[in-house]
Amino acid sequence: MSTSGITLGLTHSFAEACAGCYLPAQPAHVPQPRGLIFNRGLAQALGLDADALFTEQGAELLAGNVLPTDAQPLAQAYAGHQFGNFAPQLGDGRALLLGEVVDPKGQRWDVQLKGSGQTSFSRRGDGKAAVGPMLREYLLGEAMFHLGVPTTRALAVVATGEAVRRERALPGAVLTRIAASHLRVGTFEYFAARQDTARVRQLADYSMRRHYPELNAGDYADFLRAVCVRQARLVARWMAIGFIHGVMNTDNMTISGETIDYGPCAFIEHYHPKAVFSSIDELGRYAYGRQPNIARWNLTRLAEALLPLLDTDETRAVDIASRIIADFQTQYQSAWCDEMRRKLGLRDEVKADEALAQDFLALMETAQADFTLSWRYLIDAAAGDETRLRSLFPAPTQTELSHWLTRWRQRLGDAPDLVAMRRANPYLIPRNHQVEAALTAASDHNDLAPFRSLLAALSQPFDEHHQAYATPAPRDYTAQYCTYCGT
Ligand code: AMP
Ligand code: MG
Repeated sequence: MSTSGITLGLTHSFAEACAGCYLPAQPAHVPQPRGLIFNRGLAQALGLDADALFTEQGAELLAGNVLPTDAQPLAQAYAGHQFGNFAPQLGDGRALLLGEVVDPKGQRWDVQLKGSGQTSFSRRGDGKAAVGPMLREYLLGEAMFHLGVPTTRALAVVATGEAVRRERALPGAVLTRIAASHLRVGTFEYFAARQDTARVRQLADYSMRRHYPELNAGDYADFLRAVCVRQARLVARWMAIGFIHGVMNTDNMTISGETIDYGPCAFIEHYHPKAVFSSIDELGRYAYGRQPNIARWNLTRLAEALLPLLDTDETRAVDIASRIIADFQTQYQSAWCDEMRRKLGLRDEVKADEALAQDFLALMETAQADFTLSWRYLIDAAAGDETRLRSLFPAPTQTELSHWLTRWRQRLGDAPDLVAMRRANPYLIPRNHQVEAALTAASDHNDLAPFRSLLAALSQPFDEHHQAYATPAPRDYTAQYCTYCGT
């Protein structure tokens, strides 16, 4: 593999600290790299030279045809519970870590190529990715970032000029993913399943230094607690914007608390707690309303992996872990109530707020009202104009809505926090039908214009513009909408 002469300023703290947790890997050569989308804002934030990187030569590098001179490409080992079943060996089957960049603020980020060919973990897979799913990951990551949700982001998507074979032949692509790290719950499970406590400890020590430097070294109970708190906040953020991850397997849950892997995710349209769109989630395991429970289930798997570090006596270790996991429920509930209070425009905390939020959701469910717009139009109502809000609720639900609004107004008082409400209730989310239309144009017709236009709109989700993108999908579209894992 030749090097490009381009240096990214890569460092290799993971490779150095976690020997034995990865295998070396090399990207595959592809025929014709062509940059589809470059993320200048992210490049700048990372302190990378966008003018050098986002060129034809840079596209060769971002496709994996040449390596940055300072890369040390590797595939990480991980296991995972997929739909509840343990898979002892997953790992980076179609991705490799080039190294880490440290941004001007001193924050360290993984630089990963996704779709760059086979590794030792590919099993029967080709290690490749297609344009549509990679652009989807780019778009959803940016949308989440601008919605204020912790997330991995994409630096670029480069078409490879090669067809990848799926149900039909699709244009291939490589995505460059930037993440606080790619450490997952499944990373710990991989070594715990092999009873390799030394490696579990190594990973925990490294994760603590990298993601939780405020903790005391060696305090693994605090580490577990800290991961639980971040996940509680993350899932509460998801719930507040109507995000359905779709495949919350433990290999898709990060230790850093970032959202990762946008395969079959979707946004809720009309409110329904059982909403699920993923084609393979037949039992609704990862439905919208189940996400907090699944997060706790996944964190229990992390706790199990960490047991030998919590206490040498297993009974005591289980006791410590159980108490931490039990606290997750409280942490989540409190994070969710905070989200709801901001959405409702409330400044202080009152016990009854939870019921107020729940009752609004119940009303939305009965009315089959659009989740995003119902919240957004509460801002109008707080300012005295109920027209748009009422337009979302059919006649039989109007009286109940009036009762709820009276209760809410009493609680709100004279000085609702409209600014906070605007920041908490986006006008724009990635509407499923708009996302699909943009991806089809890009993937099937090589037309990136709809994608760029949607991306631009979603980078300002709290402002009222691009009304077409705010309009809910037709009801029958949502009824048949189905997402795929994108492998
Ligand atoms: P994901 O559905 O992307 O979270 O991937 C789950 C597991 O399958 C991971 O170990 C991936 O590396 C692996 N995988 C997914 N797609 C491919 C592929 N095309 N080739 C090889 N491995 C893959
Ligand atoms: Mg994954």
